[in-house]
Amino acid sequence: MARYTGSVCRLCRRSGDKLMLKGDKCITKCTLEKRPKPPGPQIGRRRRISDRGLQLREKQKVRQSYGMLEKQFRRFFNEAERQSGITGENLLVLLERRLDNVIFRLGFADSRAQARQLVQHGHILLNDRKTNIPSCLVKEGDIITWHERSKKSEYYKQRLQSIGGQAIAGWLSLDKQKLIGRIVSIPTPDDVEQKFDVASVVEHYSR
Ligand code: SF4
Repeated sequence: MARYTGSVCRLCRRSGDKLMLKGDKCITKCTLEKRPKPPGPQIGRRRRISDRGLQLREKQKVRQSYGMLEKQFRRFFNEAERQSGITGENLLVLLERRLDNVIFRLGFADSRAQARQLVQHGHILLNDRKTNIPSCLVKEGDIITWHERSKKSEYYKQRLQSIGGQAIAGWLSLDKQKLIGRIVSIPTPDDVEQKFDVASVVEHYSR
């Protein structure tokens, strides 16, 4: 599947916000803190950004935080629009239910990009079945485990040691001795750690 392969720090500099795309490095060694200006040549004073520009920027922020390309993000938005309730909130819940996001939230990976790789490389089982689709949506009661072969890897052993003190989102549960995750309930918009202005995303697509 197509994916963005450029510098992820560049995305943060463009949005002017920390999107936390590099795991622990974002806390210890953030490029945005060293170079807060947007990428590209700095020509004089920057123009005021229009409302449309701000909406686009917010949409990009949400999309890039979840590591998605435009086409797939739009598909998620369309699905959120089809559901009953508030479109922006539906969108956040759908994004949060993505398997790669769940792997990240369980602490099996430092970033969503790393989580996506774990899924694509077949390390993860969803309800005892191998799945290599990072965008598949989890539901209440789903169980996430590791492939037997992957449990012998250095990566798994390191995770087992380092996961101890990590806090887990309330809608998930984790057996820290066996690294087994469970979806206790469907997340709510309040469970999303990063705060986004989803109303701007809805306005962006409603033009
Ligand atoms: Fe963004 Fe992380 Fe890079 Fe900082 S280190 S600019 S938060 S991706």
